[in-house]
Amino acid sequence: MESTLKRTWAEIDLDALEHNYHALRRQMGPDSRFLGVVKADAYGHGAIEAARTLEELGAEYLAISNIDEARELRLAGIRLPILQLGLTPADQTAAVMANNVTQAVWSEAAAEDFSREAVRAGGRMKAHIKLDTGMSRLGFQCDEHRFEDSLEAVCRTCALPGLEVEGIFTHFAVSDESEESCREYTRLQHRRFEEMIRRLEERGVTFAIRHCANSGATVSYPQFAHDMFRPGIITYGIGDQAALLGLRPMMTLKTVIGVVKEYDPDTTISYGRTFRAGRPSRVGVLPIGYADGLHRALSNKWRVWTPHGMAPIAGRICMDMCMIDLTDLPGVQAGDEVEVYGPHNSVNDAAHLAGTISYELTCAVSKRVPRIYYRHGKEIARELLLRG
Ligand SMILES: *Cc1c(COP(=O)(O)O)cnc(C)c1O
Repeated sequence: MESTLKRTWAEIDLDALEHNYHALRRQMGPDSRFLGVVKADAYGHGAIEAARTLEELGAEYLAISNIDEARELRLAGIRLPILQLGLTPADQTAAVMANNVTQAVWSEAAAEDFSREAVRAGGRMKAHIKLDTGMSRLGFQCDEHRFEDSLEAVCRTCALPGLEVEGIFTHFAVSDESEESCREYTRLQHRRFEEMIRRLEERGVTFAIRHCANSGATVSYPQFAHDMFRPGIITYGIGDQAALLGLRPMMTLKTVIGVVKEYDPDTTISYGRTFRAGRPSRVGVLPIGYADGLHRALSNKWRVWTPHGMAPIAGRICMDMCMIDLTDLPGVQAGDEVEVYGPHNSVNDAAHLAGTISYELTCAVSKRVPRIYYRHGKEIARELLLRG
């Protein structure tokens, strides 16, 4: 592990997580539980340390999207309830129960399968009913044509043996967008959500935990807090809305300039010869490439932060390396650390340039990149995800 550290690494600031957690709690009020979404290895930030910190801070729930992710957290000693948001094959029901996981139940057919397997395993599987109010992904459909059928189906589902239905939830498609048509759609989704719950309650079917607010709704519709809110990306201090709540990015992706070289005008740099030096140039070679998660789409577009200023990426990003133009930064030397993403160099901007979202860029930081965790200003753990 030591030997890899001066290559490329990600510093994970758990104090920023603490700051963000408290800011989000203030935003949603004291009566709503905090569910920390730590799927996809906490969006690349490290699920175990993120979950541990959220547990210590007082979060009430966690969510993942794969039963193996839940198992990873349980093996690490995490005791909080965990909601499995995604698809689980029914033959994994016993594993869901053994890991004390709450499963999202997205249809009556799936519920019947889970019910049968839970009864066979001799227990009950905790479940949250998933409503599709307009995301058109998982869930009982709540559009006008299917509303009444879904109402009946949810009633039957909640009466199945082997299921302990604790909650009900839905997911928004455009809660993070401010255009009026998006706001209208989000309000429609929320009306469907509330209406289905109201009709179920009339039938005597009630839920301890009703929840719908993802990051976008947490920022823009705090009135949708209900019994729990489910922020993902903003918990990590990124995404275009994080700044609105004064949140701090948790991840700083760093690398070190390996070598600096001088070139004559007209020299081309990297594969495809897409960058041509227009002047005598100083160029640094960085040990980070697309296999570390630096998207190749950022070739000739992104820059790294140095203490002397921003250095643009010159030429195509390779699998394991890329080059930066240091001609205007004579103070920058081989051996200097640079920031690829972080507080000085926002991953949100990189995402815009790459034509994607910050989620994809932090999720892409690969297992070859060691994570170094900081808490109370001190390094507390290092983690290399490579086998062996
Ligand atoms: C991923 C996910 C979230 C969190 O989404 P963000 O946009 O990161 O806040 C919440 N709910 C569900 C169902 C999800 O799949």
